Amino acid sequence: VVESLRTHSTKQVPFSVEFNPPRDADGEARLWRTVRQFERMHPAFVSMTYGAGGSTKDRTARITGQLAQQTTLLPVAHLTAIGHSVAELRALVGSYADCGIRNILVLRGDPPGDPLGDWHSHPAGVTYAEELVRIVRELGDFNVGVASFPQGHHRSPDLETDTAFLAAKLRAGADYSITQMFFDIEHYLRLRDRITAHDPVEGAKPIIPELMPITSLRTVRRAVELSGRELPAAVLDRLRKAAGDGPQENREAVRTAGIEIATEMAQRLIDEGAPCLHFITLNFAKATTQVLTDLGYEVTAAPRPAPRSRSAAVGR
Ligand code: FAD
Repeated sequence: VVESLRTHSTKQVPFSVEFNPPRDADGEARLWRTVRQFERMHPAFVSMTYGAGGSTKDRTARITGQLAQQTTLLPVAHLTAIGHSVAELRALVGSYADCGIRNILVLRGDPPGDPLGDWHSHPAGVTYAEELVRIVRELGDFNVGVASFPQGHHRSPDLETDTAFLAAKLRAGADYSITQMFFDIEHYLRLRDRITAHDPVEGAKPIIPELMPITSLRTVRRAVELSGRELPAAVLDRLRKAAGDGPQENREAVRTAGIEIATEMAQRLIDEGAPCLHFITLNFAKATTQVLTDLGYEVTAAPRPAPRSRSAAVGR
């Protein structure tokens, strides 16, 4: 990922997109249509999430492997620690490498069902993402990303402690971080200030902001709630106005407002020197493509070759 950000050949700030493992054949067909659309816009990388508690373990590996082998895209596989022993985690990393994946986003994961509920370590597992970063690093030549939290992780006692834990993950061998989605740019900028002040060396690693173009008020409220946060009042007001007072949300107006909000945020992040813009897509291309084209990004006829994933040497 870091190499791709450095060597990205477009004039614009690189962007990247997040996909989810599809649930069924229809979802898979839609994902591939979306993948092919983004291929024509040359993202710096694409990431594939890992279902809560390992529920999508095989699908994440299979589809990310296909992205590595059958597209011009650089895929990043998410991996979460929850519910796995260290032996299982090592085997999973090995299966990623076997599929040609050498970029992993290392996470601890949330309790399945209730992300804000009690967290229990697997008896033979790890407790923090930092430990999994070390395991992945020991296993081979992987480029490793971790999560960062502009408003602090909801379980962190305060922002300073949260910053110290992020610095520890980076020091353990992570190359960059991707933030939790946010809707107030100041939160991203303050995170960047905090980590740079805490540890100038680790703070110099890319902090990639995550954006979600809102297409439904209900969906975004739920997503923000699950992360233990709230939508800023200004954003909520704007979306509520668009939704209207009727019994049914005015979906088209919410969508238009959501795309405008994401475009304004992206432009401000570009102006503030963000290293990349990472978009949550929910496996749909339209909203993110609209944001990017509004920002002046181009869609080309044919995919341009991108850095290919090579198999990592894995010592298992
Ligand atoms: P950690 O870094 O381990 O932190 C967890 C908590 O422990 C924090 O409160 C932290 O401050 C604290 N902590 C960290 N280190 C220590 C220490 N040494 N001592 C004491 N306390 C410590 N979830 C999924 O299930 N699948 C996904 O694909 C997925 N993708 C994500 C992508 C991004 C970009 C982000 C931001 C989150 C993603 N998540 C995903 C959610 C993530 O798993 C949760 O936010 C989880 O609660 C935190 O994960 P973490 O890796 O940051 O954990």
